[in-house]
Amino acid sequence: MAVRLLIFGRQGAGKGTQSTRLSERYGAPHISTGDMLRAAVANATPIGLEAKSYMDAGQLVPDEVMLGVVEERLAEPDVVEHGFLLDGFPRTVVQAEALGRFATVDVAVDIVVPEEVVLERISSRRVCGSCGRIYSVQAPPERDWTCDTCGGEVVQRADDTPEAVAKRLAAYASETQPTIDWYADAGLLVKVDGLGTPDEVSERLTAAIDAHLAR
Ligand code: AMP
Repeated sequence: MAVRLLIFGRQGAGKGTQSTRLSERYGAPHISTGDMLRAAVANATPIGLEAKSYMDAGQLVPDEVMLGVVEERLAEPDVVEHGFLLDGFPRTVVQAEALGRFATVDVAVDIVVPEEVVLERISSRRVCGSCGRIYSVQAPPERDWTCDTCGGEVVQRADDTPEAVAKRLAAYASETQPTIDWYADAGLLVKVDGLGTPDEVSERLTAAIDAHLAR
């Protein structure tokens, strides 16, 4: 069965880590709009050039740019066959309404973590510049900041600076929280406590998603 999932959570809530696991469990491709944009920036594509200044400043990329990127990706054969796990989209009510015009959503999950915890997690977060795998200062790759999965260089994200993080959290509160509420009103939202080990959070997530899908 093709499952169509959305994953919400503040920056540093563990969305990236959990998305990789959920994507394996449900067989749905993990589509991270942040990873897609970072790849576009690295390849200096027209979209990357347009998105970069917004991203570096911790601001949202304009809706019309995002909608083009996501609609094109969701039309690809792997999505048509296996569904999707959308991570980082939609982030505004305009994006949610537009998504509803070209895709069906089965369930949206919100990983809830208090702000003081995400601030601490983001300052120690490190990420592979090639494949996006997430590490931390406490849990680095095995060898010399070289990704265990793909051999890429593991670095701090350009927008994980304190100023950009503050802006991203503010945008989350003003734009993305109303989007989450929009899915709650539609009866599609499940909330999961994001504190604890990655295994504990994964177990809670799959239990909540399975219960929702079985309704
Ligand atoms: P993320 O890796 O999900 O934190 O995304 C990194 C940055 O990419 C964000 O701070 C935004 O600048 C941009 N971005 C990613 N997804 C979206 C979206 N759905 N709408 C607007 N901007 C986005």
